[in-house]
Amino acid sequence: MRLNRSSSAALFDRAQKVIPGGVNSPVRAFKAVGGNPLFIKSAKGAYLYDEDGNKYIEMINSWGPMILGHANEMIEEAVRNAIGKSFSFGAPTKAEVEIAELISHMVPSIEKVRMVNSGTEATMSAVRVARGFTGRDKIIKFEGCYHGHGDSFLIAAGSGAVTMGTPDSPGVTEGTAKDTLTAPFNDLAAVETLVAKNKGTIAAIILEPVVGNMGCVLPAQGFLEGLRKLCDQEGILLIFDEVMTGFRLAKGGAQEIFGITPDLTTMGKIIGGGMPVGAYGGRAEIMNYVSPAGPVYQAGTLSGNPIAMAAGKAMLTYLNEHPETYTYLNKITQRIVDGFRHNLESLGLLHTINHVGSMFSLFFTNSDVVNFDSAKTSNTTMFGKYFQKMLEKGIYLAPSQYETLFISTAITEELADKIIAANKEALKEIHS
Ligand SMILES: *Cc1c(COP(=O)(O)O)cnc(C)c1O
Repeated sequence: MRLNRSSSAALFDRAQKVIPGGVNSPVRAFKAVGGNPLFIKSAKGAYLYDEDGNKYIEMINSWGPMILGHANEMIEEAVRNAIGKSFSFGAPTKAEVEIAELISHMVPSIEKVRMVNSGTEATMSAVRVARGFTGRDKIIKFEGCYHGHGDSFLIAAGSGAVTMGTPDSPGVTEGTAKDTLTAPFNDLAAVETLVAKNKGTIAAIILEPVVGNMGCVLPAQGFLEGLRKLCDQEGILLIFDEVMTGFRLAKGGAQEIFGITPDLTTMGKIIGGGMPVGAYGGRAEIMNYVSPAGPVYQAGTLSGNPIAMAAGKAMLTYLNEHPETYTYLNKITQRIVDGFRHNLESLGLLHTINHVGSMFSLFFTNSDVVNFDSAKTSNTTMFGKYFQKMLEKGIYLAPSQYETLFISTAITEELADKIIAANKEALKEIHS
């Protein structure tokens, strides 16, 4: 089946004249998979509709936030109620207190929390606080982890940065770059060596406790525990970047399922229910360094925006009160993953599927994928073909090998089976 994509193509032509690359965030451009991006007109539940009227089953969900599917009525109602009271005050509101209380209840390591407008802001601010608190300059990050587009993090960065071939972005000064040390994910010995060589100078170790931004990569047994122990011994703050995993893997995020308590946590995506929201929080002793309680400056005209807080509060309230959401997501995602594995095995195709909760990635490689180097053994040409075949069959995947898929509660068993059937056909076609 060939889809009519003429309206999307025409819009992309116009977009490229007035927007760099035609998109407001790089991975949207389909550069890694070929062809033009689809321009989306609307979405509801499990479905996405483009400007040409094509309908797709959603497997990205706005890169995570739409965990309850699109245009969820409960969130819509909360936003509608907030809208009639003006869109921004730049003054404190009750909703900000309520969402902070809720976050602290759901993620017990967070005693105090500050709301910001994106995941990028959250990670930039968390690192600044860690530096202010410890009086040290350097940070350690992991190759292939993505923490937003702050200068300090665009060193061996994942997500769009690796997809576009710029993990070390031009425009980041040498001065900034020298304060970011990198290690391979899951390599505790490498981190210990870095810490020993830079004794007393490292403020924080930041990581995605489950990586989503080099594709889905799980922490090896003992890795998170080892980092926690090392941080405790050396006075280093452990920052879990849970922008992706927070409220997705469990109501308390990855730290709940792996039982490791970070000093600081960064959040985004689901926390805004689809509105632009981020947050960072952690131990009160550390968060009390944030202005105006303490000396580390961080501010935002639109931070804690009332419309965004209404959407976020509705989302988090639902997840807090409905733990069965995670049971369902785990079950439906397992069904899809099992189906894909069966298809791949019966065709004899090389593959590795990494999976936890409602996040998973299919890599076209026979290596175990445990870090960035092993993720890069994937056949990205094959992934591009697979992506296009799935799209033709009405399945909307992340347009890069180095991304994770996010399943929503709108995916029924029937839809899961449709996805599995499409996967089988797509694999057959690229195989022959
Ligand atoms: C998406 C993401 C970010 C950046 O969040 P933005 O809202 O895009 O700025 C940071 N860290 C992780 C782990 C992410 O997945």
